[in-house]
Amino acid sequence: MEKYIKDTKMNLENLIRTNIKNMQAYSSARDEFQDDEEKMIYLDANENPNENGVNRYPDTQQKVVKKILSDIKKVSKNQILLGNGSDEVLDLLFRAYCEPNVDNVITLPPTYGMYGVLANLNAVENKEVLLNDDFEPNVEQILSEVNANTKIIFLCSPNNPTGNSFSDESIVTLLKNFKGLVVLDEAYIDFSSKESWLSEINDYPNLVISQTLSKAYAMAGIRLGILYASVEIISVLNKIKPPYNVNILTQKKAVEKLENTKKLIKQVTDIQNEKEFLFKHLLQIDFIEKIYESDANFILIKVDNANKRYQQLLENGIVVRNRSSQPLCENCLRITIGTSSENLKLINTLKVL
Ligand SMILES: *Cc1c(COP(=O)(O)O)cnc(C)c1O
Repeated sequence: MEKYIKDTKMNLENLIRTNIKNMQAYSSARDEFQDDEEKMIYLDANENPNENGVNRYPDTQQKVVKKILSDIKKVSKNQILLGNGSDEVLDLLFRAYCEPNVDNVITLPPTYGMYGVLANLNAVENKEVLLNDDFEPNVEQILSEVNANTKIIFLCSPNNPTGNSFSDESIVTLLKNFKGLVVLDEAYIDFSSKESWLSEINDYPNLVISQTLSKAYAMAGIRLGILYASVEIISVLNKIKPPYNVNILTQKKAVEKLENTKKLIKQVTDIQNEKEFLFKHLLQIDFIEKIYESDANFILIKVDNANKRYQQLLENGIVVRNRSSQPLCENCLRITIGTSSENLKLINTLKVL
């Protein structure tokens, strides 16, 4: 084990793009001087001096938000990177580690579409290895696709849109046998019956965990994405991120809501109960051929004709996600768990289609 960790550490440094390794970070006025303790007179950043709550540039290191996350998640502050949604923090990984037109990443469809979009945007080849029929990673095939230019494998667990969590065995095998970064997207982890992998980031230096405030934390609108990883990885990303990437309003709202998680915990429990309710009632609808187990706040169902059912729901004022065009998801609809009255309306509508 010891030896394995040492090897990976050495490789981590080599994974970084050369220009990124050599570049200097932009040093902003607020970065150079920010003293929380003392009331200073700030004449350094050309801000409008009239205080209104947003006239100052935001904290580039989001110290207050990180302190709270560090306490909640039991992770050290320098192992946390925050960004403008998961989109931004994942994009930073591409920018830091994937040389355009040279490197490649591996994604496992059917999965979250953003990994492929970011690969495209960054001119990085996206090698797709389909999940098995049970929606587990095909570990052997993934490892056989790895070559000297493979920098990142994206795992989404619980997976969107299938809703299942990947087995521990699949994840460990990839972490141990792949010498690049393994990004584990845990956007739905708070709805899962499985534990987060967060406590493992010190054991696996190549493990990068992505979480978000957009789902269980009920703050999709403020755009706050989070990465947890080794200090080596986080410090590279910190160096290249836009300095003011998380605005003041977002930081304030995150702090306000994270300091009072009681309401959020209650909401997650309610959503879990609603999921049970939906499962029970969806089972009784005859054109639904399959209801997949879900560790998330949505349910994937297979119907007789997804386009037709999607359209019918739309005509009844209900928007779901048609995932039919995704591999292994023929005739599948993804349904987010709503409020109890929304879910009731859904069931009553489905019953008369
Ligand atoms: C919703 C979702 C996210 C969240 O993205 P944000 O940009 O943080 O809102 C990330 N990953 C997956 C798989 C998702 O489904």
